[in-house]
Amino acid sequence: MRFKDQVVIVTGASRGIGRSIAEGFAAEGATVVCVATTEANARQTADAIGSKHAFGCDVSDSAAADAVITEVAGNIGVPSVLVNNAGITRDGLLMRMRDEDWDRVIAVNLKGAFNCIRSASRHMMKARYGRIINISSVVGLHGAAGQANYAASKAGLIGLTMAVAKELGSRSITCNAVAPGFIETDMTETLPADFREYVEKNAPAGRLGKPGDITPAVMFLASPEAAYVTGQTLTVDGGLML
Ligand code: NAD
Repeated sequence: MRFKDQVVIVTGASRGIGRSIAEGFAAEGATVVCVATTEANARQTADAIGSKHAFGCDVSDSAAADAVITEVAGNIGVPSVLVNNAGITRDGLLMRMRDEDWDRVIAVNLKGAFNCIRSASRHMMKARYGRIINISSVVGLHGAAGQANYAASKAGLIGLTMAVAKELGSRSITCNAVAPGFIETDMTETLPADFREYVEKNAPAGRLGKPGDITPAVMFLASPEAAYVTGQTLTVDGGLML
């Protein structure tokens, strides 16, 4: 029970990687707060892991994100761990990318993390303890054609991670990023078959990832033992980008 009595907030917890992360922390005794776009979606994961705490919130809305985190800190407990996992794609070639597709992806993936960090860190600073983990992507490190908005948001998260690590380190708050490769979730189910074959051939692991491949990396960075690891980006991609 590595996370017993710790309050852990997971955004984007309704499915995919976020759901697996929520399951992982719950299995280790944490009080997991599930956040997703709707409360009903968040509730599905919360019910499955035996948590009472489900919130619907658009993380890109700073007032909404702040309201959720204030309620968590006041009524459930000061969060020890914040996992910023909520994310979307709106892919398209640069020439044809619409303003709203650029803006929305940056708003959810990057500003959403900022909103939650700003709010949670107020409570973590008072407690003089915190673990913040941002789910970036290998696309944020290497780019991808057709994903200018997504790549910029995920690279932005890495800059945000380093800035937060520097700013909050003296209060025993760490901030790290995890950069998954290609993980089998709803987000990637429309990948063309030849791309899947490419991953299977070229990743030393010989397969796409599963949500459960990401969770242990997040849980290590969230643990008290990871106190001396901060500002880092841990790639979890089966070696694909080597
Ligand atoms: P998914 O689409 O299955 O799940 C996304 C989750 O984010 C859902 O719970 C959804 O409710 C939530 N969400 C979306 N917009 C939101 C908003 N505005 N406010 C609150 N919650 C919101 O995606 P996934 O594949 O599980 O991806 C999870 C994270 O991992 C994302 O940040 C994604 O960019 C990142 N990632 C995924 C892959 C992959 O291959 N699947 C690779 C690298 C990084």
